[in-house]
Amino acid sequence: YPQQFELLRPEFRVTENWRVATALPRAEGTALLDFGVYQATDYQQLIDSPLLVGLFTVQQFAVDGVPHYLVVSSQNHYDSERLLTDTEQLCQAQRAVFGGLPDDLQHYWFLLWITEHGYGGLEHKDSTLLLCSRHDLPARQMTAPDDAYQTLLGLISHEYFHTWWVKRLKPAPFHAYQLSQEQYTPQLWLYEGFTSYFDDLALIKSERISQQAYLTTLEQLVTRVTRNPSDSRQSLSDSSFNAWTKYYLQDENAPNSIVSYYAKGALVALAVEAELQANNKDLSHFCRDFYQHYLATGTADRSFFDALSAAGFKALAAQVEDWVYRAQPLPLAESFAKLGLTLSWRSPQHFDDTHGTQQQNAPATLGCSLKTQNGLVTVQQLYLDSAGHQAGLMAGDQLLALAGYKITDKSLPQLLKRLPYGSEQPLTIFRKDRLLTLPLTLQAGKAQVAMLSIADDAKLQRWLAPLSTNT
Ligand SMILES: [Zn+2]
Repeated sequence: YPQQFELLRPEFRVTENWRVATALPRAEGTALLDFGVYQATDYQQLIDSPLLVGLFTVQQFAVDGVPHYLVVSSQNHYDSERLLTDTEQLCQAQRAVFGGLPDDLQHYWFLLWITEHGYGGLEHKDSTLLLCSRHDLPARQMTAPDDAYQTLLGLISHEYFHTWWVKRLKPAPFHAYQLSQEQYTPQLWLYEGFTSYFDDLALIKSERISQQAYLTTLEQLVTRVTRNPSDSRQSLSDSSFNAWTKYYLQDENAPNSIVSYYAKGALVALAVEAELQANNKDLSHFCRDFYQHYLATGTADRSFFDALSAAGFKALAAQVEDWVYRAQPLPLAESFAKLGLTLSWRSPQHFDDTHGTQQQNAPATLGCSLKTQNGLVTVQQLYLDSAGHQAGLMAGDQLLALAGYKITDKSLPQLLKRLPYGSEQPLTIFRKDRLLTLPLTLQAGKAQVAMLSIADDAKLQRWLAPLSTNT
């Protein structure tokens, strides 16, 4: 290295209009988006630069004069101007966190790989490869972003934040990354968690979504973390450390045993933000200084706590360390109060109920996710201590009848609503090839659906004020 290699255009008529999108530097004589000679300064750059080759649309904007390319694969019907504007505004919001682009960033590529189904993204130093469904792209008649488009914008925002926070600032052991083996770190709560906090925050700071939409997103986040029994059973540091063997290899017991360093890490960021805001500071500026301070060396496991202490937040540093290393629910109500919000709770209407105010009294629930397979309602994941768990249900059980009535995906919610609350009813199931009857007590799920309401608008606005208002 440095090495050059030539990318040849396939010699077929159908490939005539193919082009190349990649952050790999072009050699002299190779035109932008063309086949030809590319070069890599080292092996890391080569494998860190995905190529999108084929038919795609490409749009361009600049941040601080640095060209950014938005590449969308294949042919799609969507509002391309809107996607471009929204992406640009999100980039500006993330740039504002750090006060500028990374010094060595010369261009940036968003490579959107459109599929029928699919969702995900991977950060690279000068690009990101994003996978999304065709229908996540914004329809032309859309007003406020629908859930799918907001999720895509969150993904774009997330991966772009990684340009600073993971691809440049990173755990010290990752500076000499060993590609031949798994690399373990307890710090993913700081990297993926804080990125997850800032990805959604940028949506409101850049005025892509409304304040209400942001509060709904927070309610969903809080509910998802809180209702999982893992919240008080696995620490964030353990979850980070075991990412290779647990988080990315989840089984049916995951909600009970694995805490998400993304989701709960984002709530740690929010709790730190709350404390800083209460002291007339904010997490963005703290992260900017943190980035500058540790950019060259990388972060040790204690760096974040040390930085908080050095900034005069000794008590907070000790608290964050405790949140990270000990499995326990976070004091979220206190944090939200500091941000001008009141957090309250209610029981879920159904398994997927994660946000919004109470519409009616909560019905009895089983506390498990269900899927209909071969016409039979089957238990997927079961929360520890839920009504279903107390009755003795297990993942994989096929639900046949409740109180003598046939269970279907349609009848089950009705039965749970209509059978006498508090009564014990026979639940008939198949467990593999055995017919069993379990005693189910009809009870509402725990009050773990988060509801946020505004208590102090001045505090809330100080936190969420759009970038455009504080120039
Ligand atoms: Zn990430």
